[in-house]
Amino acid sequence: MARHPEHGRDPEALLAAADAAMYASKAAGRNTWRAFSPAIGQAIADRAGALHELRDALEHDRLELHYQPKVDLRSGACVGVEALLRRRTPDGVEGPARLIAAAEESGLIGRLGEWVVRTAAAQSRAWRREGIALPIAVNVSGLQLRDGAFVAFLADQIRFDPQLPRFLQLELTETSLALASDGASEVFTEIRRLGLKLHIDDFGTGYSSLAYLPMLPMDALKIDRGFVAGMTRSQDSREIVLAILAVARALKLAVIAEGVETREQAEFLASHGCDQAQGYLYACPAPAAAAAAFAAQDHRQRAVDHQATA
Ligand code: C2E
Ligand code: MG
Ligand code: MG
Repeated sequence: MARHPEHGRDPEALLAAADAAMYASKAAGRNTWRAFSPAIGQAIADRAGALHELRDALEHDRLELHYQPKVDLRSGACVGVEALLRRRTPDGVEGPARLIAAAEESGLIGRLGEWVVRTAAAQSRAWRREGIALPIAVNVSGLQLRDGAFVAFLADQIRFDPQLPRFLQLELTETSLALASDGASEVFTEIRRLGLKLHIDDFGTGYSSLAYLPMLPMDALKIDRGFVAGMTRSQDSREIVLAILAVARALKLAVIAEGVETREQAEFLASHGCDQAQGYLYACPAPAAAAAAFAAQDHRQRAVDHQATA
């Protein structure tokens, strides 16, 4: 609903406002109505702005990947990195949330997702030439798995670089697993057949059915950083973390804790059998050279119980 003259003085402006209100009502679950408001207008303008920035960044090569180390909790060694999307702006670098949302809404996610894999694969080859054997985990949107194009693209990448499956892992959120829906588990089986490892990201926050878990060919779970952050404050979060660790152990999945910021969190996780951790305690996402330097550091002081195991 849009009203003259508050929401638009001429027919074009009024129709644009009505259109914006229609999108808002669709986003609110359809079969409902919304009146235009400045906030709705702002949200539409923001979304259009994000899409423009995404197109511009893809065309003018303003995207980059930053890499955040993952650490083996027992030895402290860097065992891999996660690639995180960034956009260069005149004022620095911007995080991925708006870009990913715009890409998913506009259908550009396929192109963006391929850019991410191609860039990570090229980085992996550059590292391997320098003797650095660090697997790179990339985030994949469920929408990319809806058709066979992404799997065919991955197969092409592997034909070109047969070693790639040892150095590339895919992270999918539970919500993505649901989005990929029906044919999804076949897609996962095909990806696994290519030799790539699959990790479930933000575990415990999305699609809350545990029934799907044993049916999917997964290799690891990443505990959502919300639970990790809550561990120090709330008994509930600690119990949830312990439950996730127990489920993972029963299903023989590795566990990676994300968002580890304190030594206390790392110790709790290590003492309950969590395999790996990632977070500001160790290193922030940074350009490739910084991640490689981190991996080359003496890692013994990062080990949680190296005295006990020495
Ligand atoms: P994610 O995959 O769960 O990535 C972890 C996020 O936690 C990253 O945010 C990282 O910067 C942040 N983080 C890492 N350590 C800590 C910590 O110790 N404390 C706190 N508070 N945060 C920490 P970022 O880079 O903003 O990425 C946000 C999300 O965007 C990612 O969550 C992922 O779902 C998505 N994303 C990032 N890159 C891509 C991409 O290339 N493709 C797709 N489809 N999604 C991506
Ligand atoms: Mg991730
Ligand atoms: Mg995550």
